[in-house]
Amino acid sequence: MIFRSLILKASSLSPVKKAITKSSLFRPMVSRFVAGDDLDHSLSVAEDLATNGFGVSLDLLGENVATLEEATRALASYEEIIDRIGKGRHKDKINISIKLTALGLDLGDDVAERHYRHLLRHAQPYGIFIRADMEASEYTERTVAMIERVFADFPNTGTVLQSYLYRTDDDLERLLRLGSRIRLVKGAYLEPETVAYRDKATVDDMYVTEAKKLLLRGKYPAIATHDEAIISELKDFIEENKIPRDSFEWQMLFGIRRDLQNDLLEEGFKVRVYLPFGEAWYPYFSRRLAERPANLVFITKSLLKK
Ligand SMILES: Cc1cc2nc3c(=O)[nH]c(=O)nc-3n(C[C@H](O)[C@H](O)[C@H](O)COP(=O)(O)OP(=O)(O)OC[C@H]3O[C@@H](n4cnc5c(N)ncnc54)[C@H](O)[C@@H]3O)c2cc1C
Repeated sequence: MIFRSLILKASSLSPVKKAITKSSLFRPMVSRFVAGDDLDHSLSVAEDLATNGFGVSLDLLGENVATLEEATRALASYEEIIDRIGKGRHKDKINISIKLTALGLDLGDDVAERHYRHLLRHAQPYGIFIRADMEASEYTERTVAMIERVFADFPNTGTVLQSYLYRTDDDLERLLRLGSRIRLVKGAYLEPETVAYRDKATVDDMYVTEAKKLLLRGKYPAIATHDEAIISELKDFIEENKIPRDSFEWQMLFGIRRDLQNDLLEEGFKVRVYLPFGEAWYPYFSRRLAERPANLVFITKSLLKK
């Protein structure tokens, strides 16, 4: 956890960002986690995954836009993505993840909500589901409240809860009452002790407790983790409680534990791959680096070889 905080802090420094984004050395590592820069290629990756039996959630990378123009550009890009998915062969298997800060949450709840409703309306006739990713804790209440406001009009939406936050048990009850779909993750942001558990064991314990609640009471929940020990414990729980395998899905990130993704699919579970693409990959990439020290060791070795 200390290591994770250090990497997240270091990666927010602009000289570090400049060094990583300008250097071609990092490209192979970036392409492990990111499908590509453009929609055509990323859609073909998504379609291949769908043909092989996976669900996919496409994420156009980008967050924290500072102007209305940028938010409007993101909106137009997402409209195009929805049309392309909706007219494609796999619209029942490919859905969308989006960050509300990409739609202008920093410019005001009203701006983001107007844009979000617009996208949900656009996606509805195709039957495409759109999930609002969960960002740093300063946005948690605003994201949960946004879903509560739009859900009655647009049941094709849901959001994400993070087991590292103290507040998540309450949010879980709120969203279970609402009846929206929930993705459970451990949480990827640098959070202070005032809002989040800092030790891995507690975050993991909370994850298991909350995942069990979701499996028993949630509406088609998404159990999003690569943690083999947790997956194994939850598989026992699913078996003991006779939870139907098509009543929930596992979710994992593109490029991480493909072996596990394939195993779960072969065992007859539903598995969705979160597939990010686009040029604004830096914040996503630094969160992935921070999750696993080995990723950084790999990069350091590559740099030393040059
Ligand atoms: C589908 C999906 C959607 C997500 N959406 C959000 C979101 O909206 N908001 C949010 O805050 N977080 C989100 N996350 C990220 C999440 O919060 C965690 O940071 C991330 O999943 C790592 O936690 P873990 O559960 O895999 O457990 P960990 O204990 O971190 O990892 C377990 C094992 O998984 C493998 N692993 C994990 N991460 C990596 C990596 N980067 N590189 C290589 N191997 C790795 C390793 O083998 C590791 O031992 C999402 C994750 C997934 C899978």
